[in-house]
Amino acid sequence: LPMRVDIISIFPEYFAPLDVSLIGKARRKGILDIRVHQLRDWTHDVHRTVDDTPYGGGPGMVMKPEPWSEAIDAVVGDAEAVPRLVVPTPSGRPFTQEVALEYAKEPWLLFAPARYEGIDARVVAEYGSRLRVDEVGIGDYVLAGGEAAVLVIVEAVGRLLPGVLGNAGSVADDSFAPGAMASLVEGPVYTKPPVWRGHEVPPILLSGNHGAIARWRRDEALRRTAATRPELLARLGRQNLDKRDLEV
Ligand code: SAM
Repeated sequence: LPMRVDIISIFPEYFAPLDVSLIGKARRKGILDIRVHQLRDWTHDVHRTVDDTPYGGGPGMVMKPEPWSEAIDAVVGDAEAVPRLVVPTPSGRPFTQEVALEYAKEPWLLFAPARYEGIDARVVAEYGSRLRVDEVGIGDYVLAGGEAAVLVIVEAVGRLLPGVLGNAGSVADDSFAPGAMASLVEGPVYTKPPVWRGHEVPPILLSGNHGAIARWRRDEALRRTAATRPELLARLGRQNLDKRDLEV
């Protein structure tokens, strides 16, 4: 069975990129079943209103609960299974590779990307008692809307599904992959030619010595993590480091 993904948004056209490249191919191969819905289809006024002024005052608008609940109820329907509801928000728990792996095991994800200042908080409260609801943030910055966050999450999750990547092994060597790469980012990569504009490929990569190459790659991952993500390296802990790691 394909993984089912439903997305409710006031900008369904934002999701056209999901027809491109790996994710587009996964849809055509029947690995991913992505359905995009227009939130305004569940409004009942001529202006198809989805927002209103915030209680307590202040700038900006807040998304009204009624269209969201009608839309979510319609999508969930009386299906026997229930989706995991994912609500993108900068105030959510951080979306990481670990969360991507967790989502890749779900049969059904339902995304509720907001605009304006977000969705009336009672929507999450209401569905929290009926579905598993995750508020997730994709980084410490503020986007204009949740659509781009959904594209990020669907791409990170989609490439983990069986049959999507040509070489499934590449996932295990990626930055943040559980196991040896947990809390590490990948080091530099090279391809032909061996010398380009006077820059040489590190000779060890041409040595054919697989043990030495693996060691070099790990050393480079440790160096790069120390340089760009020291807080990740600190989290790695001594128990995850072998004796050689500590010398790098
Ligand atoms: N007032 C909100 C705050 O300060 O937390 C920001 C609202 S933002 C302008 C509008 C919508 O964009 C959010 O409700 C969410 O759906 C989405 N969004 C913005 N930044 C995001 C992030 N870092 N991760 C996930 N979603 C985000």
